[in-house]
Amino acid sequence: MTVDVLKVNEFKKAAPVFGQLSFDDHEQVVFCNDKDTGLKAIIGIHNTVLGPALGGTRMWNYNSEWEALNDVLRLSRGMTFKSAVTGLNLGGGKAVIIGDAKTQKTPELMRRFGEFVHSLSGKYLTAEDVGMETVDMDTVREVTPYVTGISEDKGGAGNPSPVTAYGVYMGMKAAAKFQYGNDDLQGRFVLVQGVGHVGESLVDYLTKEGAQVIISDINQEKLIRLRDRYNATIYGGDDVYGADVDIYAPCALGATINDKTIDRFKASIIAGAANNQLADDTKHGSILKEKGIVYAPDFLINAGGIINVYAELEGYGRKEIMEKTQNIYNTTLEILTAAEANDISTHEAALKVAQQRIAARKNSK
Ligand code: NAD
Repeated sequence: MTVDVLKVNEFKKAAPVFGQLSFDDHEQVVFCNDKDTGLKAIIGIHNTVLGPALGGTRMWNYNSEWEALNDVLRLSRGMTFKSAVTGLNLGGGKAVIIGDAKTQKTPELMRRFGEFVHSLSGKYLTAEDVGMETVDMDTVREVTPYVTGISEDKGGAGNPSPVTAYGVYMGMKAAAKFQYGNDDLQGRFVLVQGVGHVGESLVDYLTKEGAQVIISDINQEKLIRLRDRYNATIYGGDDVYGADVDIYAPCALGATINDKTIDRFKASIIAGAANNQLADDTKHGSILKEKGIVYAPDFLINAGGIINVYAELEGYGRKEIMEKTQNIYNTTLEILTAAEANDISTHEAALKVAQQRIAARKNSK
């Protein structure tokens, strides 16, 4: 076999795995390849101090393998802190499958992926993420027990999104208590950006409480359906980030709090479901603090979904799932209070709680 000199030089120029921007002492990164099914996947195991690394599988048509690697490193790290701050005995992991979920996902590919998950002997537990459905987890379940998020009739805990929405609602109410001295959202103007699985359920909670709900989405059909169903107002302006509201709830994309948007917010609270809302955790977390905008950390308040799948592992039921998710209210209030007392951003305060829990468990081993 001849070595392609050009390719070797390209590899030399690129940052190696341990030098990736998103590499943060990850324990293990597994590259999975199967020619027959076309599977190309990466499993990232960030930390297993608190328990097995649990995190969903995302199937996405990445522009490059580097982009996929960066995503799995970033997402698996986030899972470590989400579970730690929520008090779950789980580590952080995530998997990405490179490809178009609409055209390239087959049962054979999912089963082969499941075999790779199985080869890790339970160190990594998978679940659904973008591009995955419950039925895909059922397929993975055919070859490995190390999967959560399976259908209810197969012993799973069912759709996590309404539980995620309930946690976001709890986190939002805690932020209101902290910012306004009262957690009643009646009459408050709340802008929900992205009315998908989580966003719609959040709109439902907010409407029932009497909040003035404003919705924004790129999908016009959804907007009209929600307007008619919940009597919500469709955002009509041209700058959703500068909307004159009390609360901004990002429930679509990550990184909406960035250099371009941060000076435009009129909201005094940011509390939503999207992962990685701060484009730069340190910089944008600090700017929000300086501006007096209360930011309820995403990985804390969107943990309802993981509480839901954790139930499958621990064997607890709906009542306990909702109680644990309701507790996001108390945790959020504690973290917002600690952030103020220590003069740090709320993101940093939440991260500290998670890191301390991991360090304490490590020291006790
Ligand atoms: P979803 O795909 O069902 O909904 C996303 C919605 O956002 C869609 O309606 C889509 O049309 C809309 N959208 C996309 N781009 C937009 C844009 N530029 N402006 C406005 N709207 C836009 O996803 P979901 O399951 O509801 O999750 C929402 C967010 O919450 C995601 O960031 C996800 O990672 C995060 N999250 C979800 C869960 C869960 O349990 N589903 C758990 C934790 C975190």
